[in-house]
Amino acid sequence: MHIPHYNIVFDPKDLTLEDTFTFKCYKGIVCFNRCCYDVKLILSPYDLLRIKRALNLSTEAFIEKYGELYIGEVTQLPVISINMNPYDYSCPFLDKEEGCKIYPDRPSPCRIYPLARYFAENEKGEKIELYKIIRETHCKGHYENYPIKVKDFLEEQGLIPYHYFNDLWGEVVIKRQKFSHTPLTGDLLETIYLLAYDLEGLRNYLENEKLFTLSQEDLALSEEELLEKALKVIRDEILREEYFL
Ligand code: SF4
Ligand code: SF4
Repeated sequence: MHIPHYNIVFDPKDLTLEDTFTFKCYKGIVCFNRCCYDVKLILSPYDLLRIKRALNLSTEAFIEKYGELYIGEVTQLPVISINMNPYDYSCPFLDKEEGCKIYPDRPSPCRIYPLARYFAENEKGEKIELYKIIRETHCKGHYENYPIKVKDFLEEQGLIPYHYFNDLWGEVVIKRQKFSHTPLTGDLLETIYLLAYDLEGLRNYLENEKLFTLSQEDLALSEEELLEKALKVIRDEILREEYFL
């Protein structure tokens, strides 16, 4: 079954964390799984960490089996996405009876749907977090009588750690967008890939060598702690503004 994603509409209203919207998704709803076809699923470093851990796969094995690795057009940063099944465009993690086979570790785009998160400035010039509701014709969860605050929905969907790591990665992306006129060298690109997406490769490297401020001492860190440090190394040490000016 191929369900193209047309008729995407964003509600004009901006929602804050305290606002309430009406939505419920559950096994048994008439549209169950309809949103798991023909989706462009780009994985953030934290999305990938969670899925790889759940599947017990290395980055290389994951890409070979389920995904694609390419270079972002503007940022020239490495990008990893999930390939849909070629015969019916279904997500490779979809069990058509039971739903998502990696549900506890599903990536952030699947968790946040039907909301879209973005940042804006208020009248005082302060950065504020806002949400818009996405409405697609196939998604019937909007008609369920289940009012929920945005902040409770995020909690329910386990999005808090995802937002923390995705915001860190977002700062890397914004920096690269700013300096996209200066191409990354092959060496820097490989280093960014290692730090953002290949923690087991990074650990092997640190057994013998230092990498910026990361050293053997960091081998004791958990995967989350190491990823946090690694993303900060990309943001603060590799993408130094003076290097790209
Ligand atoms: S990862 Fe899971 S929730 Fe997301 S599209 Fe695939 S099957 Fe659906
Ligand atoms: S309610 Fe929406 S998000 Fe839930 S299964 Fe249906 S289409 Fe997917």
